[in-house]
Amino acid sequence: MFDLILKNGNLPDGRKGVDIAIRNGIIEAIEANITAEAAETIDATGRLVSTSFVDPHFHMDATLSLGLPRMNVSGTLLEGIALWGELRPIVTKEELVERALRYCDLAVTQGLLHIRSHVDTSDPRLVTVEAMIEVREKVKPYIDLQLVAFPQDGYYRAADGVASLERALDMGVDIVGGIPHFERTMEDGRLSVEALCRIAADRGLPVDMHCDETDDPMSRHIETLAAQTIRFGLQGRVAGSHLTSMHSMDNYYVSKLIPLMAEAEINVIPNPLINIMLQGRHDTYPKRRGMTRVKELMAAGLNVSFGHDCVMDPWYSMGSGDMLEVGHMAIHVAQMAGLEDKRKIFDALTVNSARTMGLENYGLAKGCNADLVILQAEDVYEALRLKPNRLAVIRRGKVIARTAPRIGELFLDGRPSSIDGGRDFVPLYEGRPR
Ligand SMILES: [Zn+2]
Repeated sequence: MFDLILKNGNLPDGRKGVDIAIRNGIIEAIEANITAEAAETIDATGRLVSTSFVDPHFHMDATLSLGLPRMNVSGTLLEGIALWGELRPIVTKEELVERALRYCDLAVTQGLLHIRSHVDTSDPRLVTVEAMIEVREKVKPYIDLQLVAFPQDGYYRAADGVASLERALDMGVDIVGGIPHFERTMEDGRLSVEALCRIAADRGLPVDMHCDETDDPMSRHIETLAAQTIRFGLQGRVAGSHLTSMHSMDNYYVSKLIPLMAEAEINVIPNPLINIMLQGRHDTYPKRRGMTRVKELMAAGLNVSFGHDCVMDPWYSMGSGDMLEVGHMAIHVAQMAGLEDKRKIFDALTVNSARTMGLENYGLAKGCNADLVILQAEDVYEALRLKPNRLAVIRRGKVIARTAPRIGELFLDGRPSSIDGGRDFVPLYEGRPR
């Protein structure tokens, strides 16, 4: 007797008509035609059943603060940082907790159950840190929330940057952050990378830095981050977020840099929505795209996962907690529209991000946590195209959110009376796994 069986679903790897049987929050069987009884059965015929989505780069302390205390007029990263600097001293812990919890509600309805959030440590009051630690506890039953100590105003540049970051880690923040390109000089940036990697090695923590989020091709802190990763033996535990300067770097230099990053097993986290919105702002025409070299990094064997970064905050007025929106943009900006490319993009929203976050028991296999989402789409290609409704979201074997399928009603003579976008427009092009 199982707690829950999902019947006849399609899996991200292309398998069709698969049943998933769940007991005590764990996937106990994943195969065709499971005949055992279950307390609850969900018919997933023709629908994609995926592991829940993973966002490896977010700012939970700033989310849903759009318009406070004013809007970002220039739309630039630097005005966003300045605006956040205006809001930060007047924000209360209660407001931060309330907004974060509301965002987590939204995330759950989108099937997003694992989030790594940077937390600003620049204000020595550290209310941001207190608030996010409280949120991490509150959402634990339904969202895995990891926190990164993020010195937004610079580790060395902010008056109390060094001490505040240490205090945040003492308070229980999980990961060491950084922002080397925002320090006063390239040299300070380099020194900050070294100091922060040393802290991570001493404390046994992972590293995740905002690194080279600029169009300046000479912003090469990723090289230092990779070298220090190897020096301190942190391979596989370090993430480089954004890395947008790589877009503008000299090709010969990149041909040496990417193998170094592979040697250091750097986890690469581009943020397609934010990168395409904020980068290239000093260009006239042609305007650079500003996203890092996703295709080339994937081809070199690096683990690439995409972050949402921002939803309705000083940097980004858009966003919906939907990782498929992130993947949709990644397909466009990276120009990865082939079938194999799209499958890789879907992985970058799920399994790759889980690896970046070091999530245990994540996957669609016997023994993994039953953290799943059923989508109103047949497969990963259609999911990325449609950003469809999440029909059911399952956390440790329990349905925690449902959304009805989106069905359009038609009132046209001689035409169908309704349209299910997830079923009625599935293309039949050659080579598509059926
Ligand atoms: Zn960020």
